[in-house]
Amino acid sequence: MPERRGLRIGFDVGGTKIAICVLDAAGNYVFKNETATPRDDYPAFLEAAMALLKKSRDAVPEAAHATIGAGIPGEIDVLSNTVKNANSTCLIGHNLEADLERVLGQKVRLANDAQCLIASEVHDGAAKGAAVAFGVILGTGVGGGVAVNGEPWRGNNRLAGEWGHNPFPDREGEATGSPCYCGRNNCIETVLSGPALVAAYHDATAGENAQLPEIEAKVAEGDPVAGAVLSEYIDKLGQALATVVGVLDPEVIVLGGGVSSITAIYRELPERVSAHMFHSGISKPRFATRIVKSKWGPDSGVRGAARLWPLPR
Ligand SMILES: [Zn+2]
Repeated sequence: MPERRGLRIGFDVGGTKIAICVLDAAGNYVFKNETATPRDDYPAFLEAAMALLKKSRDAVPEAAHATIGAGIPGEIDVLSNTVKNANSTCLIGHNLEADLERVLGQKVRLANDAQCLIASEVHDGAAKGAAVAFGVILGTGVGGGVAVNGEPWRGNNRLAGEWGHNPFPDREGEATGSPCYCGRNNCIETVLSGPALVAAYHDATAGENAQLPEIEAKVAEGDPVAGAVLSEYIDKLGQALATVVGVLDPEVIVLGGGVSSITAIYRELPERVSAHMFHSGISKPRFATRIVKSKWGPDSGVRGAARLWPLPR
């Protein structure tokens, strides 16, 4: 049963919808709602957020003093504090945190979707109880987030876990790099995003257009081309995650985003990470990092946003 103590509010701002939830201390939904994201209209976006907050407070008066966190599928420029590279393009260039604080009338913590994923999963999801956990979004983009001792760890530059735009560790033998929207070449995102996997399948089949669920189905049917494409993807993911293990050596790595629902990944991935590590080939059971799918799936965004603040005392 939801309790009305320790309430926290989370917003998840997406390209198509803005979701809000009020979570109680135990992680039960006390209130949940969503609305369409206004297109190309920043003032309308702020109004929609205000309207959602009002609805939640009308439904749950005890939430009047709840903390507010918001997750966005984009980056916050740490120098200017403005949003960049968000798929809700009307947010780009705005100081969203300050503007939300102004219209909502209280402090707001802002984080990207990967930071929200790990904040959610470490509380009551697939990384619960882990001293150090790393969350990865493998979706339209690729991002990461860190949690330490059960709380999200943002880091000195608010960049902890932001690994999707580091260079992919090894592009040996490739004549040209893959340009990334961020202006660099060969970012991890250009290799490991959902669209990159779809493109790899397209190339391997000389032009067949298949989306992730179709590729997964073909792998399950034993299609050799789909199997090879996925296997190569898993190896590259293992290579990129080996750098994370080399720095952070987390207890748990949680995968979220569209690619994370391909269950075949979890069978092969630990071995592939291990193969690319410094002490390569630490085999089961000695490779001690668990690699798991997020428990809350798409809900990890809104739940993690609520968890950007510690529980009120
Ligand atoms: Zn990039």
